[in-house]
Amino acid sequence: MTATNHVVFGALVATVVQNPVIAIPVALASHYALDALPHFDYPVKGHHSLRFFIWLAIDCGIAASILASILLLQPANAGLMIACGIAAASPDLMWLYYTIYKHGEDKDNWPLFVKWHAAVQRHTGPKLWPLELSWLAAMGGLLLVRAA
Ligand SMILES: [Zn+2]
Repeated sequence: MTATNHVVFGALVATVVQNPVIAIPVALASHYALDALPHFDYPVKGHHSLRFFIWLAIDCGIAASILASILLLQPANAGLMIACGIAAASPDLMWLYYTIYKHGEDKDNWPLFVKWHAAVQRHTGPKLWPLELSWLAAMGGLLLVRAA
């Protein structure tokens, strides 16, 4: 799932669960639950093309803008919303190492957890953008209602 949707859902978690000891781990766990849903994947081949980095920059730019909006608008529990948004998106940082730095090579020797993170994302692809957009509209709408 996109960083944007992970951040939105993480922030939404903080509007429901206000205890950070519970909310942050729940937001982190939500990453894998959302990854298991059928979702959009950037329409690129591999992780080293300019096209991939453009998609990544747009996605991360939108996600960062959402976090910045929370910071600027200061809804109740803004700090926890930001922390949960970051926690929810953070597991994908491992891909910077395994697919970009390591060029996705030697997948057989990836740690079990990395293999599992890849395997949980069974149904992905560029054609699933309507699902991704619908999820964003639903969860983004809920976030706006909950944070208002
Ligand atoms: Zn992921």
